[in-house]
Amino acid sequence: MASALTEKLTRLVKEMRGQARITESNVQDMLREVRMALLEADVALPVVRDFIARVKEKALGQEVLGSLKPGQALVGIVNQELAATMGEGVADINLAAQPPAVILMAGLQGAGKTTTTAKLAKHLIEKRKKKVLTVSGDVYRPAAIEQLKTVTKQAGAEWFPSSPDQKPRDIALAALDYARKHYFDVLLVDTAGRLAIDELLMQEIKDLHAVLNPVETLFVVDAMQGQDAVNTAKAFKEALPLTGIVLTKLDGDSRGGAALSVRAITGAPIKFAGVSEKIDGLEVFDAQRHAGRVLGMGDIVALVEQVTAGVDLEAAQKLAAKVKSGDGFDLNDFLAQLQQMKQMGGLSSLMDKLPAQLTAKAGQVDMDKAERDIRRKEGIICSMTAQERRRPELIKATRKKRIAAGAGVQVQEVNRLLNEFEQMQGMMKKMKGGGLMKLMKKMGG
Ligand code: GDP
Repeated sequence: MASALTEKLTRLVKEMRGQARITESNVQDMLREVRMALLEADVALPVVRDFIARVKEKALGQEVLGSLKPGQALVGIVNQELAATMGEGVADINLAAQPPAVILMAGLQGAGKTTTTAKLAKHLIEKRKKKVLTVSGDVYRPAAIEQLKTVTKQAGAEWFPSSPDQKPRDIALAALDYARKHYFDVLLVDTAGRLAIDELLMQEIKDLHAVLNPVETLFVVDAMQGQDAVNTAKAFKEALPLTGIVLTKLDGDSRGGAALSVRAITGAPIKFAGVSEKIDGLEVFDAQRHAGRVLGMGDIVALVEQVTAGVDLEAAQKLAAKVKSGDGFDLNDFLAQLQQMKQMGGLSSLMDKLPAQLTAKAGQVDMDKAERDIRRKEGIICSMTAQERRRPELIKATRKKRIAAGAGVQVQEVNRLLNEFEQMQGMMKKMKGGGLMKLMKKMGG
């Protein structure tokens, strides 16, 4: 999926070359791809519509400055807008209150509230040097209270006991009182979740909010929830003045589109991301990085710029036409290809820009070595005469020796290059000019 989108966008960007501004027609195809990518990342439909409309408005008629092509400019706008929609800078936890600062955790059952409560406790202890107390208001599930006790211990915080025969409101008040008397900086209140939104649950957490007057009311939501996250977010937003969002289970398969939906619907900043089941699996949310994940593109902006700046499309097209017309593929063309690969900014830097899924395999290839190889091959071809390059079949033993000496390599290396060239020539014949990019990919491993 990620690679498909990257390819599509890269192609579209190329098609848009040579056009001076972004227009209704050249933007259409590209936005369709972006829209698909967002939907596939499980962003809610109304949110996608809104987003696309905003990008379009920003993009239309925009002069494309400097060496940027309209397509590149558009990718840039999409990326920026995505990051801007999901956050503005780092939104750290707010503790500006008369101690104890109360943090209320809200969300559905299974969203990761209890786990996040403990993770947050650890974060506040380690990063903010706070004295932290936790308490569970989940009187419906005794196991939930026990669970909080266990994970609070792991976090190195203190746990305030509660039991199923108490009212959540009384538990909250008792914990608050204890926290005050024992000079806790922060009181984290875990609450009961239900499998689905229900009136009782909402009323209960509203009451808790009224009693506790929390400085932070965090909505904990499972990134895997996808489209459903929207309804949940709506219900919680209506019940509570949310001050922040924690997006959990971002380590899962989800592309994290829920981030966009939930942020758009609640208007609250995403403060943290849960990235593992472990107690230290909590990260301050990074909107810029997450934008790339949602579109499944890695650092597409940089990639697109590199690819289009580096590859001389005219030369590539000429080459393709030449092969098609049966003119034959000679060592000059082979050299041109090597040079194009090099111009793409170096293989290793190109690999860095691709989405991780794509490079997992390639990571095993030694990119530095691949680049050195290209340079050596270039050296060999450059030591040939013009005639030899056009008619490689002329290159016999004596010429090989001369070429090897010129390039400062062994004769075997010249042989290897000629073999490789022959294979490539055969491939080119088969492809009949079909797709230089395809070929380059094969060469790049
Ligand atoms: P609660 O019902 O909202 O309190 O949810 P829990 O805290 O009990 O979490 C439900 C499940 O999700 C547990 O198995 C957690 O280990 C798991 N979980 C919570 N946060 C994360 C996360 O960020 N990543 C992963 N992989 N699992 C998580």
